[in-house]
Amino acid sequence: MMRRALLWLSERQSIFNFVRRNGLARSFASRFVAGETIATAVAAATELQGRGLTATLDLLGESVDDIADADRARDTYIEILRAMHAAGVEVNASVKLTQMGFDVDEVHCEANLRQILSVARELEGFVRIDMEASEYTQRTLDFHARLATEFAPHTGVVIQAALRRSTGDVEALVTSGTRVRLCKGAYLEPSTVAFPQKRDVDAHYVRMMERLLADGAYPGLATHDEVIIERAKGFINGHGIAADRFEFQMLYGVRRDLQEALVREGWRVRVYVPFGTQWYPYLMRRLAERPANIAFILGNVVKEATRRS
Ligand SMILES: Cc1cc2nc3c(=O)[nH]c(=O)nc-3n(C[C@H](O)[C@H](O)[C@H](O)COP(=O)(O)OP(=O)(O)OC[C@H]3O[C@@H](n4cnc5c(N)ncnc54)[C@H](O)[C@@H]3O)c2cc1C
Repeated sequence: MMRRALLWLSERQSIFNFVRRNGLARSFASRFVAGETIATAVAAATELQGRGLTATLDLLGESVDDIADADRARDTYIEILRAMHAAGVEVNASVKLTQMGFDVDEVHCEANLRQILSVARELEGFVRIDMEASEYTQRTLDFHARLATEFAPHTGVVIQAALRRSTGDVEALVTSGTRVRLCKGAYLEPSTVAFPQKRDVDAHYVRMMERLLADGAYPGLATHDEVIIERAKGFINGHGIAADRFEFQMLYGVRRDLQEALVREGWRVRVYVPFGTQWYPYLMRRLAERPANIAFILGNVVKEATRRS
């Protein structure tokens, strides 16, 4: 109920217009979003690097219906890659195809991605194509496969354990040597395409994780689920898999304790760092995942405000 309400709120532009002007809401957002500019995002990546973590930067913003907006997002991504390089942090970004004009003009979208990936290749970096709702899954995989012939290993995709089809997709991606980020899936999907029960999603995640760890090309295990992370460690140790053959991935501001504990144990951890002016829908989705965050973040905001006064 709460999850649905928060997801509904995430789509209300009028609420965002109000919220963006509100200082309290902005400090609330800063827990999960690294500011509104490239400079604040690169500063966050630099700070993470200082603590032994790597980053992937994500310019917030989804589906565009105007190709000029897609081109602006493309140019910002190119700037992001160059700014990371200039700052001496690993060049790594995550991009959503709908932000690059996927729904407006797929050919133009592909041209945008080619420009971004050319820069990623030039800087020896990496650009991950995020996975969106299930209506985009096949199109996104096909799109990636076209680009991969030219740009692998500088690009990769995301697979969602929530989707029933994903086992087959993972097999194909293992065969093609594609870099896969494995996540549970952030979208509300019908039970015809997705497992409605969390335990089935988790079990599916573990099966695909083990397949990718055994034979995949540098998989990214994107989860904050401690049970699954322990399971991964057991599998890795049991199969003599080297720590540099994969990485854990987590979201900026989520389970920072766990991120640091994994680094201390010698594992690689990449943090997904979102930034930009369009932070409101992203923030609402994170709160929908764990409504207890509302109280948690509010508590921190109040603590910091009383410390300042
Ligand atoms: C690096 C990264 C990239 C991602 N990319 C995509 C993508 O391209 N497409 C897509 O659909 N989804 C993506 N996701 C989101 C993902 O699909 C899940 O919605 C999200 O990660 C929550 O799932 P979980 O695996 O952490 O497990 P859950 O079962 O949801 O949570 C496990 C535990 O993690 C903790 N936790 C989870 N979320 C939060 C939170 N917001 N705040 C505090 N604690 C939390 C809680 O303690 C919870 O008990 C990505 C996630 C990560 C980490």
